[in-house]
Amino acid sequence: MKYSGKHINKTSDLTRGWQSLSPATYRGSTVVYPDYRSFINRGAGGRKAYTYGLAGTPTSRTLEARLSELEAAIDTFLVPSGLLAVTLTMLSVLEPGDKVAIPETVYGPVRRFAHETLLKLGIQTHYYDPRETQNIPFDDPHLRLIWIESPGSITMEVQDITGICKKASQKGILVGCDNSWASPFLCKPIKLGADLVVEAVSKTLSGHSDLLMGSISVGSEPLAEKIHGTIRALGVGVSPDDCFLALRGMETAELRLAHAGHSARLIAEQLNSPDGFPLVDKVLHPELSNAANQALWETQYVGSNGVFSLILKDEEDEAHAARYSSLETFSLGASWGGTHSLLAPSVITDNRCAGRYDGKRFLRLSVGLEPVELLAGDLDQFFAGPTR
Ligand SMILES: *Cc1c(COP(=O)(O)O)cnc(C)c1O
Repeated sequence: MKYSGKHINKTSDLTRGWQSLSPATYRGSTVVYPDYRSFINRGAGGRKAYTYGLAGTPTSRTLEARLSELEAAIDTFLVPSGLLAVTLTMLSVLEPGDKVAIPETVYGPVRRFAHETLLKLGIQTHYYDPRETQNIPFDDPHLRLIWIESPGSITMEVQDITGICKKASQKGILVGCDNSWASPFLCKPIKLGADLVVEAVSKTLSGHSDLLMGSISVGSEPLAEKIHGTIRALGVGVSPDDCFLALRGMETAELRLAHAGHSARLIAEQLNSPDGFPLVDKVLHPELSNAANQALWETQYVGSNGVFSLILKDEEDEAHAARYSSLETFSLGASWGGTHSLLAPSVITDNRCAGRYDGKRFLRLSVGLEPVELLAGDLDQFFAGPTR
């Protein structure tokens, strides 16, 4: 049979009468128009007009609208990874001669972007200790953007989002917040005063370890135009299939967070008990009553994710490696926020926090949806060490 070239949507009415509970996945590069004038004026509808698959589909618009609502933002932009959400934001708002203040505990790959890309563009980075707001150089006339990541990657320091935003706005400095740990279900940085917020949609929001995506949500029209301009200039877009999966994952995000957060807190409390686990030097979970920044956690978050870390006492490398052979429920792997529980061991060696964590053995736990008894049993085995 020969290809007829007939326009499928034009010639069929098969969607009439179809209603379902799930969003449709609209695929397409080309957008077609009913007449000459609509084609010529296709860009006149502004940012949200449908002009080309790369510029958005009804499926990506559905996800953007859902995220804007959750973040209390005026608009949201989707990009292919959480890392790109951070870097594209910085590229959009920073100019040669500007300075950006980044917490020492920032998601690791952002450092590479700062020294490889920002530096080449004549943009300087100032790393600050996230535990004290006064460590941010608010009076530096070149400071254009303050980046917040709360709690910090691996080391889990909660930052004073409200305090930083208040001071920054007095000085006309922008504040961007990486809110991936909390997700908009547990914290809404724009409501706390941030100018924009990014999420690694790859993590808790999509929640099933099966896609990569980032979002940038903004609180003002000029910022929306800036981010949109960079996205269009660079040719960034996301797959409608991934948007569908993210939307589906978000339906259960609050329930998953509640479950994982509860299990993780139980586990953290157990590990935090004074003489139960000699190998545990410190439990880093913002909700624990002995966490340094517990008061800040309490005022800015309505709950906890299942992700927290341990500092382990040092031991011989081989003995340490052997502990992982007994794991039955936890898997070893980077990333977090999925249904399966993960352990991610690391040793900090890069002098990132004025050396205060150097040489320390960290273990990040991402608690998923398995029964908490199985997870606790796995950890008991892990801390008991292999039986010889
Ligand atoms: C994982 C992560 C990112 C990056 O997300 P990807 O989608 O994996 O690129 C950004 N920020 C934080 C805090 C993260 O944990």
